[in-house]
Amino acid sequence: MSWDKSGDPRILRRWFGDMEVKKHIYTMGIAGEIFMKNLKDKGVITGSRCDECEVIFVPPRSFCEYCFSELTVYEELEPKGYIETFTIVYEDYHGERLEKPLIIALIALPNAVGGIIHYIREVEPEDVYIDMEVEAVLKPRDERAGNLSDILYFKPT
Ligand SMILES: [Zn+2]
Repeated sequence: MSWDKSGDPRILRRWFGDMEVKKHIYTMGIAGEIFMKNLKDKGVITGSRCDECEVIFVPPRSFCEYCFSELTVYEELEPKGYIETFTIVYEDYHGERLEKPLIIALIALPNAVGGIIHYIREVEPEDVYIDMEVEAVLKPRDERAGNLSDILYFKPT
């Protein structure tokens, strides 16, 4: 189902149909592919650097969002950072109480802009705090597939 303006912004028109999403393949772009390949092969988190602005972006971008320069320099960073913010999830998608709450955090990397959203484990929800230092727990090298699930979770250092 979709919505469309009819020319009169107060009147909406809708139609039904199928979106042909199976025919399309989403690509991560050059920077995203480097990020995933380095995560899989080396177990590192990759950022892209803008020398003009003295900024490292994580995940890497192909262009600087401040000066619009093309970014071609990539930095391999240790998969460690700190919790910038977090939430605790007590229910699943169906509203059923989880056996154990999930902690989901935005993990920032030192001296980088951006971050990675991932699970925090090996700590109780009441003990999590902003700025807690955490490190990634990765799948064994031969089980990695080149996606964010190669990081199982982050844990306190
Ligand atoms: Zn820049």
